[in-house]
Amino acid sequence: MAEFIPPAKPIIGDEERAAVDRVLRSGMVAQGPEVKAFEEEFGEVLVEGWDCVAVNSGTSGQHLGLLASGVGPGDEVIVPAFTFAATGNAVALTGATPVFADIDLDTYTLDPDDVRAKVTERTRGIMPVHLYGHPAPMDRLQEIADEHGLELYEDAAQAHGARLHGRRVGTFGAWAMFSLYPTKNMTSGEGGMVSVRDPELARRMRMLRNQGMEVQYQNELVGLNNRMTDIHAAIGRVQLTKVLDWTERRRQIAARFDAELRGVAVPVVAEGAEHVYHQYTVRLPESLAVARDAIRDRLKDEFGVGTGVYYPVPTNELPSFRIEADLPNTRTAAATVFSLPVHPSLTDEDVTRVIEAVNTVVEEAAA
Ligand SMILES: *Cc1c(COP(=O)(O)O)cnc(C)c1O
Repeated sequence: MAEFIPPAKPIIGDEERAAVDRVLRSGMVAQGPEVKAFEEEFGEVLVEGWDCVAVNSGTSGQHLGLLASGVGPGDEVIVPAFTFAATGNAVALTGATPVFADIDLDTYTLDPDDVRAKVTERTRGIMPVHLYGHPAPMDRLQEIADEHGLELYEDAAQAHGARLHGRRVGTFGAWAMFSLYPTKNMTSGEGGMVSVRDPELARRMRMLRNQGMEVQYQNELVGLNNRMTDIHAAIGRVQLTKVLDWTERRRQIAARFDAELRGVAVPVVAEGAEHVYHQYTVRLPESLAVARDAIRDRLKDEFGVGTGVYYPVPTNELPSFRIEADLPNTRTAAATVFSLPVHPSLTDEDVTRVIEAVNTVVEEAAA
């Protein structure tokens, strides 16, 4: 059988290795000049010059963002349940309550009507996820935020470089978190970057990531150690020079999938949105939900095509939360989606193989 096509594959080359070697040889490996340079470069390349704060993971960035914004016990933050658990975890770890709203089944991002229905006296903010690399409907969410005096925080973990009406994600809310985990569109090993609108808020985040101090041993806040190392920043700086080209390749692959896949619902790109295809996620007809595992097994075993399910269990249904919520689109998506390889190292032949495999297996499952 042809070589296995993994569902995701970080591209790490000689330049990244040389960058790490340079830092190791310098003898200074903790947060230092590489982190500072990475923050500046990330701001220039991806978030229109916004102030950026580097941290040791996307989750930490989200947690620090919420803490710096003063979110805590008694507050509610509206989030989707159709996302990685980190989104809800970050809210819960501040002592605030995540309130789960449903998604739109075309784009898999928050449904503004359901968000509006979930606003209460205690709501502090809304944290949409630009899931799979498709921007959430920030214009409509901003209207709701304005009506009720709420803040917007962006989970841009999967959406480096995505745009809505020409504007980059990460420049809509008070702050936005980008993940730099290896399977994301770019990586630093582990890591996260937070783009921040207000410099004073950025200063608080910088303090919170470093035990709450700006001046050594003069701690002003109770903080954490969420620092990024210079080793990770050096990797991230190299990746940053490539991420937009990689995104172009992701888009080319997605265009072929859009044109050639049959029997599944392909991703819909909302008007004015630029998708960066962190995932290329398709949806089976509901009648085939029970066959999803079997379909994925055949893709892997007979065609060497790896797939993933993001995410099979809505956050509110996880054992860690178990919160009742009526989220019909979330449940449908959780039961029927799966994601195809769309990473930039796929060859054109790989893409053809994925298309033929999906078309064959889905058609036979439906017969
Ligand atoms: C990856 C991810 C996170 C968390 O980022 P880490 O860097 O893994 O901590 C949060 N939200 C979403 C939607 C993600 O995909």
